[in-house]
Amino acid sequence: MVSEELIKCPMCSSKKVAKINELSVSDIEYIYRIRHGIEMRNFFVDHIFESESFILYRCKKCDLEFYSPMVLGDGEFYSQLQGGGEYYPEGKLEHSYVASVVNNISKGKTSVLEIGGGNGNLAELLDVDKYVALELNPNGLECIKKKGFQAYNMTVERFTESNPGDEFDAVIACQVLEHVENVHTFIESSIRLTKKGGLLIFSVPSRDTFMSDEINNVLNMPPHHQTLWGASVFSNMEDIYKLKIMNIVNHRLEPIHYMSYAKTMSGNLLGRGIRINKLLSKPFWSKLHGVISLPLYMYAKFFSGRISGHSITVVFMRQ
Ligand SMILES: [Zn+2]
Repeated sequence: MVSEELIKCPMCSSKKVAKINELSVSDIEYIYRIRHGIEMRNFFVDHIFESESFILYRCKKCDLEFYSPMVLGDGEFYSQLQGGGEYYPEGKLEHSYVASVVNNISKGKTSVLEIGGGNGNLAELLDVDKYVALELNPNGLECIKKKGFQAYNMTVERFTESNPGDEFDAVIACQVLEHVENVHTFIESSIRLTKKGGLLIFSVPSRDTFMSDEINNVLNMPPHHQTLWGASVFSNMEDIYKLKIMNIVNHRLEPIHYMSYAKTMSGNLLGRGIRINKLLSKPFWSKLHGVISLPLYMYAKFFSGRISGHSITVVFMRQ
């Protein structure tokens, strides 16, 4: 367990933090085993030593929520997760939105850096003169290159060392910030690469939505996610990084999340219980939970436009 005095916010470095939740490592292991068919015991033994739980803190200065200890998924973890077909789902609403924003920049030649280019899905929607992707996953990197785009296997911090600042009209990171350990250097490097007056665009899962009630969603916990974001954090970033918010969009519920929305809402109606509800992860109960959630599933399907979905996108302008 990390000593309380050493805990500080990974974005603003404030030590004024409040403990808001505690997750048992053995519960997370259990859900991965039952739901995703992934055995995490050895991973946790190797990476967090004797810690038996993850503590979720909220920074009192910037409102960012972060887990301690921070433990990032390794290559083996992600190859197992991708094997389950749960990564890089295509056709995300935030990609269409980001593309509409970027394709409207009219300053002559437009240059874009995408941090975490995934499989190049966003790149294909962009109508720009220069596109560069940074992607750490070798399969993703290969895919982006095959589509004909420029891509490098490096972090934004390393890319900044070998590139002049003020270089890109837009720097984009979709579904990346929540995985990052050193949030501050990530954001600082992203800003440095953006031209003055250029755009900095981040999409993240939003804790302002039904996601905060998804008690069994281990994909929103370590080692997959390190931090939890909401609109208030972006508002505070305006002061911390001297940025100006141009727009914040909470995308509507996507079909891939109809059932998790329905199960979360019905779970709330039935009573929230403990933070991770092992019972509801057992196959029989999970199916039963799905059946009793059907009316809410139908509601989600027909009124998805009225429901805040998984992701939020912020567009900042660098001052
Ligand atoms: Zn903070």
